[in-house]
Amino acid sequence: MPGPSGDIDPQVAGRIRLVVLDVDGVLTDGGVYVGARPGQDAIELKRFDIQDGLGIKMLRWAGIEVAIVSGRVSEATSWRAAELGIDECHQDPGARKLPIVQKMLDDRGLGWDEAAMVGDDLADLPILERVALPVAVSNAVPEVHAVSRWTTGVPGGRGAVREFARALLTARGEWDRLVRQYCDDRS
Ligand SMILES: [Mg+2]
Repeated sequence: MPGPSGDIDPQVAGRIRLVVLDVDGVLTDGGVYVGARPGQDAIELKRFDIQDGLGIKMLRWAGIEVAIVSGRVSEATSWRAAELGIDECHQDPGARKLPIVQKMLDDRGLGWDEAAMVGDDLADLPILERVALPVAVSNAVPEVHAVSRWTTGVPGGRGAVREFARALLTARGEWDRLVRQYCDDRS
């Protein structure tokens, strides 16, 4: 399996205060299971990667806020965000992500130079074009790869967010300490 490509500038990494994650194709493989029995409501299932979950928690332990911004509305996404303790979970059916992220930055007094995003498709482009650290998953469309500074080695839904979290925290010089702390807290 190919490794990640690109470099994460330690100075850029050190400024990041907000990481924005897309859902479909980033936290999942982009597939959606839809099932229904006659006369009953359909149920939608997504498959999330458990290793991504700890990566998200480690970002937060380093003082980086993590937000979910999806262009689809899904109960499965709400459920997963709640499980991970992500308060900023936004699902816009029209995939208008830019105003959502702009408001999050404004509310916190942050700039685009303090934000990163992991995306895979065109709806992510307006944000990827603005953040200091635009990241593409390996399964991203060509337009997303074209604007990204770093690309994961594994695809969305297969630990791509964990891979990025590790790389970002390593570039900040915080990964080893957080791993040690995690183990010490459980010893
Ligand atoms: Mg997507």
